[in-house]
Amino acid sequence: MEKKAFIGIDLGGTNMRAALVDTAGSIVEQIKISTEISQGAEPAAENLLEMCRRLMDRARSGQLKVEAVGMGVAGKIDPQEGIVVFSPNLPAMDNFPLGVKMEQALGIPVIMENDANVFGLGENWVGSAQDLSHWVGLTLGTGVGGALILNNRLWQGDNLGFSAEVGHLVVDPKGPRCTCGSDGCLESHSSGRALMEGVEAAVNKGKLVNGKLFDLWQREKLTAQDIYLCGKEGDPASLELFQRMGWALGIAISNIFMLLGIRHAIIGGGVSASWDLFIDPLMQTLRTTNKFLNAEQMVVRKSVLGDDAALLGAARLAWDFHRE
Ligand SMILES: [Zn+2]
Repeated sequence: MEKKAFIGIDLGGTNMRAALVDTAGSIVEQIKISTEISQGAEPAAENLLEMCRRLMDRARSGQLKVEAVGMGVAGKIDPQEGIVVFSPNLPAMDNFPLGVKMEQALGIPVIMENDANVFGLGENWVGSAQDLSHWVGLTLGTGVGGALILNNRLWQGDNLGFSAEVGHLVVDPKGPRCTCGSDGCLESHSSGRALMEGVEAAVNKGKLVNGKLFDLWQREKLTAQDIYLCGKEGDPASLELFQRMGWALGIAISNIFMLLGIRHAIIGGGVSASWDLFIDPLMQTLRTTNKFLNAEQMVVRKSVLGDDAALLGAARLAWDFHRE
């Protein structure tokens, strides 16, 4: 007898990945190709369909039957309508009925969610939060995404197309301008973009005038990872940025804990690789700002699934939909 399986897709601005996932939460097979969104939404959708068809063939050969497809997309999604409403990293997809088109072509349900929310579902299923029922997730990448899991379910609020937008909690109203238009959001302190803009600001203020960090910036070669590596070598400008990153995360997480009466946070995303440079100021800030919980009660964990969290969570999204 065929066993159930699901396809999880992680649609990012650079790469699109798809995986065949079984009900134990194991990736049976995965495919990764570059998104090439510049050619428009239709060719990108065609590539996604081709990946799904390959994985469905693979499933059949392994006595598995794909019941549904789940997809995590960076941006604002309308899950009910299957539309990518607005995606800064995938502008060609704006208002494109991606879910509807794929569903028609594949003949099985295709469910879409925001990429941070599928990260949450993945960690909750087989990752760092397997033993937790209530927790907040933060993804530190170019921006900061958030997911809220309450009673082991993804919190979706009033289905307004966003929820748990932790990155846009204001931590300092006098802080740097955020991409959302507001001032001092968490994202403008604790993301890859915030690190890059922090170096730029240090140069403009005359606080950074020489050294490796300055050289890389001047040659337009600087990446967020370089800023981390400079910090590891003791560069003060870099360390100050990670200090600020940890402080801002601490403020946001403390407020979330207070609001919801929860005490666990999980941090993932590419920039979480700089964990050792921000976790101390983060925990220090939690301790000084949250008087309702003592230090041992507040737990901040690192994602264990890395890039696979979104793939697994997208598959789990499909499975949850299939069961309902
Ligand atoms: Zn913002």
